Amino acid sequence: MLETEKDVVVSESEAAALFLMERTVEYAYSAALRAVALFRVADHLVDGPKSVAELAEATKSDELRLYRILRLLASRGVFRENESGQYELTAAAEFLRTDVPLSLRAGVLMLTDETFWRPSGEIDWGVRGTPPFKRIYGMPFFDYWAQKGASADDFHVGMASMSEIENEFLARSYDFPEGATVIDVAGGFGRLLLRILQRNPTLHGILFDRPHVLPRNQLGELGDDKHWELVSGDFFESVPRGDVYVLKYILHDWPDEQATRILRSCREAMAPGGRVLVMDPVIPSGNTPHTGKYLDLLCMAIYEGGRERREEEFRRLLAGADLRLNRVIDTGCYISIVEAVAN
Ligand code: SAH
Repeated sequence: MLETEKDVVVSESEAAALFLMERTVEYAYSAALRAVALFRVADHLVDGPKSVAELAEATKSDELRLYRILRLLASRGVFRENESGQYELTAAAEFLRTDVPLSLRAGVLMLTDETFWRPSGEIDWGVRGTPPFKRIYGMPFFDYWAQKGASADDFHVGMASMSEIENEFLARSYDFPEGATVIDVAGGFGRLLLRILQRNPTLHGILFDRPHVLPRNQLGELGDDKHWELVSGDFFESVPRGDVYVLKYILHDWPDEQATRILRSCREAMAPGGRVLVMDPVIPSGNTPHTGKYLDLLCMAIYEGGRERREEEFRRLLAGADLRLNRVIDTGCYISIVEAVAN
């Protein structure tokens, strides 16, 4: 028997039932995060705490309803209600601001967008083997976004936002060889490559992605155009020649067969002594909690066979492309670096 503060007796089995209910309604929390991100609530708290009435006026929303959103979020670390009933930013809420370098606002909006949310709601189809995204939208995920055209709140903007904090962990966790050519394979807007080049001034960088993505690159921020170039193409066909191939959030988009083809493209183009750095969550064995286990189910919802993998699955995948898993580097974030070299 467990005793609560008020001496109410709850049996272990009842506590387990309540635990299950709490887990089940947890998606309301993600919904609340979407609302505050859309309404830019965090931006309105930069100068200090505000009452819900003030926030409702500033965001043109309904006061009571906004309060209900905020009190849920504040019960778990995003925003805080102070003694006077005003709301203020917490360390986590700071990342919902739009004007901070590591803003996650667009990332939160991407992960709670209908293109993630609706397929997740039909995860049972995924489990049966019918990819939910394709069932709903009639085409693969990346085709959908290519066809939609660029916009300020599209997938690529959200991806770049979500990646920004991850890139910090990744760029500082690897010693790149002096003077090497680093290819960010399907690097999106190039923010990871930017971080790597900022930290390692002797490197030459190549940002590789689809032709409609590259014009939106942000490598100009390096302030030195001699150290990077853009190459567009299809990684199932070929990738540019170089020494270090960075594949962040790429293999998890694809089933083994296509993932192997991407790795083979890298292996074929790789200069002698080259290496491949796979940057994906590496799922631990057993019951260990891991953010990658959540991302894995989002992969099930939106991709056709994409998934997060365990270390031995990476080893096998790499072997199929004539590559050998050399080591797995823990970065302090839920994404690890799987380093592979030629066999
Ligand atoms: N590495 C980036 C982007 C990951 S999203 C990051 O971590 O933020 C996956 C990327 O794969 C997208 O930028 C998409 O445009 C690119 N992509 C999808 N299919 C591709 C293909 N066939 N060839 C090259 N790039 C592709």
